Amino acid sequence: MDRRKFLETTGLVAAAGAAAPLLGSCKGGGDPLLAGAKVAAKESYKCDLLVVGGGPAGVCAAVSAARLGSKVMLVDSGNCLGGMGTKGLVGPFMTCYDAKGEEMIIRGLFEEVVDRLVAVGGALHPSGIRQKTEFTAWISEGHDHVTPFDPEILKVVYDHMCKEAGIKVLYNSVFAQPIMKGDAICGAVLLTPSGLEAAEAKMVIDATGDGTVAFRAGAPCVFGDPEAGRVQPSSLFFRMNNIDTDRLIAEVEPHLPEFRRVNGVSYRCLHWRVAEAEANGEWDLARKSVNIWRSVEKDQWVVNCTRIHGVDATDAENLSAAEEEGRRQVQELMHFFHKYVPGCEKATLMGTGSVMGIRESRHVHGDFVLPVQDLIDGIIPEDNILLSANSIDVHGAMGGPAGGLYMPIKKDKYGIPYRVLLPGVVKNLLLAGRCVSADSAAAGAIRVMPPAMALGQAAGTAAALSLAKGIQPKDLDYGELRAELIKGKACL
Ligand SMILES: Cc1cc2nc3c(=O)[nH]c(=O)nc-3n(C[C@H](O)[C@H](O)[C@H](O)COP(=O)(O)OP(=O)(O)OC[C@H]3O[C@@H](n4cnc5c(N)ncnc54)[C@H](O)[C@@H]3O)c2cc1C
Repeated sequence: MDRRKFLETTGLVAAAGAAAPLLGSCKGGGDPLLAGAKVAAKESYKCDLLVVGGGPAGVCAAVSAARLGSKVMLVDSGNCLGGMGTKGLVGPFMTCYDAKGEEMIIRGLFEEVVDRLVAVGGALHPSGIRQKTEFTAWISEGHDHVTPFDPEILKVVYDHMCKEAGIKVLYNSVFAQPIMKGDAICGAVLLTPSGLEAAEAKMVIDATGDGTVAFRAGAPCVFGDPEAGRVQPSSLFFRMNNIDTDRLIAEVEPHLPEFRRVNGVSYRCLHWRVAEAEANGEWDLARKSVNIWRSVEKDQWVVNCTRIHGVDATDAENLSAAEEEGRRQVQELMHFFHKYVPGCEKATLMGTGSVMGIRESRHVHGDFVLPVQDLIDGIIPEDNILLSANSIDVHGAMGGPAGGLYMPIKKDKYGIPYRVLLPGVVKNLLLAGRCVSADSAAAGAIRVMPPAMALGQAAGTAAALSLAKGIQPKDLDYGELRAELIKGKACL
């Protein structure tokens, strides 16, 4: 039996359609199985600030708070820091420049990470990376000045930054349940390799991406876009090497004038080769072109092309089926590269993400929910914590298997208010990264890694300042936060 046939008969194809019913809104609360758990925190698990989730937002939150004197513990369910950027193999860092491509507007800890990577050959500086090149899958919209990076070197850069800041990092440890005193969170039950353990904290930051801490602590959440009843599709990333890059570029560039979007479907990189494979019955993926980016090393490329609809990252069975379907699609794509794409005949699969790439799941909805119109209008709010020009890129929004919605912004940048970090009812808690209080389309713009890091830096700074004053983050004076962010080289 050939390999393709084997993949068809494993049942994985069928799993693709096993979408979970989408929830309009989510009701939180702790896990009843753990409600009676009586675990006391050991001395080494007592801290000022517990950051749950070591993705780009969580790392920047932890580092900024620790540098301001907080005793910080950072827990992650995986075995490294970096979240989607390392375990998920997602990259490059999306743009940190304004929409004209003239000024770098996301700086602070993001820029420090980039500089540290560049210094050890782990990234190419975004100043030299322009849109419509092999580093951006030849895309122009929103792709000027991206940052290609090596995920293995990124893991080590994050390790160094956390170690230097004196952060206690706990890997392979899953946040299971908040420990609450009334409506205030004061710690967490963690499932660690040692068993069920407690951590005690004066303040907690939810940087899980899925808003799991806020949700279980009782903060209001929605799932995906409740009005449309959909969630952005997920993609399993993978990396390939042994690519003859010069031949691949020579194959693509004569076709650039044909790149276009039709009814939300992109016909971009290699769409002519996809058409060939489709005509031969060798393409059953939703996308009709292949997003493929050159990485730091010349023969290494990153592929963002698998697509699985209706994935609910908060549902174990649904997510498990999606992981298998992602791997099936990767094998299909490798067959496509070997057979149809000049320069990729000898491509080797370096690895698939060790986690499914989840673009969207829960959004925590605090007292203020950032509307996408504010980004489109280029509003810079009075309590601004970061500037960005990342495009509003909502995959799957046009319905159909491949449709995506791209909304251009009217000005060259927009700001993000401090209020998106506040989860409303739950005390001692801040949000950072993908789960902040924004509507689905607004989240589609600020979920990418440079703004996620800036959101983390703002959350960590606000936590440290609030802890020093013994106040709730919602009562923090914005002027003080702003001054501290500027000291931390944030661009406001
Ligand atoms: C398919 C796809 C393509 C993308 N493309 C790009 C791109 O090209 N460029 C770009 O800049 N961005 C891109 N993004 C967006 C970006 O990668 C993420 O949105 C960003 O990483 C969000 O950062 P975060 O820190 O909020 O969450 P994450 O990166 O998801 O990190 C969250 C961390 O929390 C941990 N965690 C979760 N739950 C628990 C728990 N209960 N206990 C302990 N730990 C937990 C996770 O293991 C993870 O390490 C893409 C995302 C996807 C999915």
